[in-house]
Amino acid sequence: MTNFIELGLSKPCVLALAQAGITEPTEIQEKSIPLIFEGRDVMASAQTGSGKTAAYALPVIECLEQPDVKPRALVLVPTRELALQVMDQFTRFSKHCSLRAVTLYGGTGYETQTRALKRGVDVIVATPGRLYDHIERKNCDLSHIEIFVLDEADRLLDMGFMPQVRRIIAKVSKERQTLMFSATIDARIERIAGDFMEDPITVRVNPTQVEPKEIAQEVMYVTEFSKDALLAKLIAEHNMNSAIVFTRTRRRASWVTDRLKDAGIKAEEIHSDISQSQRERTLEKFRDAKFPILVATDVAARGLDIPAISHVINYDLPDSPDDYVHRIGRTGRAGRTGVAFSFVSDEQRHMVRDIEKRIGKSLDPTAEAKKPVTSAPRLSKPRRRRVM
Ligand code: AMP
Repeated sequence: MTNFIELGLSKPCVLALAQAGITEPTEIQEKSIPLIFEGRDVMASAQTGSGKTAAYALPVIECLEQPDVKPRALVLVPTRELALQVMDQFTRFSKHCSLRAVTLYGGTGYETQTRALKRGVDVIVATPGRLYDHIERKNCDLSHIEIFVLDEADRLLDMGFMPQVRRIIAKVSKERQTLMFSATIDARIERIAGDFMEDPITVRVNPTQVEPKEIAQEVMYVTEFSKDALLAKLIAEHNMNSAIVFTRTRRRASWVTDRLKDAGIKAEEIHSDISQSQRERTLEKFRDAKFPILVATDVAARGLDIPAISHVINYDLPDSPDDYVHRIGRTGRAGRTGVAFSFVSDEQRHMVRDIEKRIGKSLDPTAEAKKPVTSAPRLSKPRRRRVM
């Protein structure tokens, strides 16, 4: 096992990590950080919870020691919540260095963001829509960007975001290093990435090493009618004091929250019908353990990083196995253990099979765990492109 100093990090960063309780690199950090320091374009497949944010944030912090008038690193993320989480990690890890960073996301006024941009920043963490607005308003100039990161690239490169992301990429300096972190890297993502990355090297960490080891997962076959009672029973039996319940729609999130309140359980909801400021307040209260159960839709919960979450309950199964992995990744954060329950109807058995294929193990508690379906490929020796 390599340590952070051996990976090339400086003492101030290592100290900040130690103060955050982080002493050993995770697999994605061990594999990506040296390549990033060499100036390679890196395409990394890594789940949330694997330490992927630090895998790029630490080299970015190290490479941006000399201040400049223009921003030199840009991190593009699909949601406001993820932007806040990423900024939180930049703030924690750059505690002993001077780094000016700003988050740009919608649903809130322009003034504070514009003022920060005008004062000068080193790192921008932004969602595509708001970043593009600032570019159009001539508030920010991406011509000095040295490191460009796409976080949750599978989301960023989907159809909805694609036109905006392409317009942003066109504004970023060509003399840059590009890093892409994605839960999955398929042929489509590789094709698109080929358009804006230079000879990228792919880094994969075996998802089966990250998820099932830390998160106990169980499916529960249940009728729609009995879900509410089962949920209340599970919460009581497991004495849950920090759990997130996922529903398929906003309306169902409200319904479940009301049923929990009826049962005397303190619960609050977050979804896209709730204003951004209210969502932030709710998350803050949840983080501070002011109430035990957060009911959420996928959109609202993306990027959520609350280490204390002990349980994830899929009241409704998500649409895709990738969403399942994202959801359960809200628990079992950074080496902690977690438990995920999924409510499944008989007609949804085929969805369980798809999830099992994705995670490489059986979700049937009586079945013996299957062997992982994938293994991490060996890295080829990287080509040196640029010395930093
Ligand atoms: P991420 O995968 O970026 O969502 O990170 C999940 C959590 O892991 C965050 O709270 C990080 O602060 C934490 N973390 C990052 N790197 C490490 C590490 N090497 N050891 C333990 N925790 C870490």
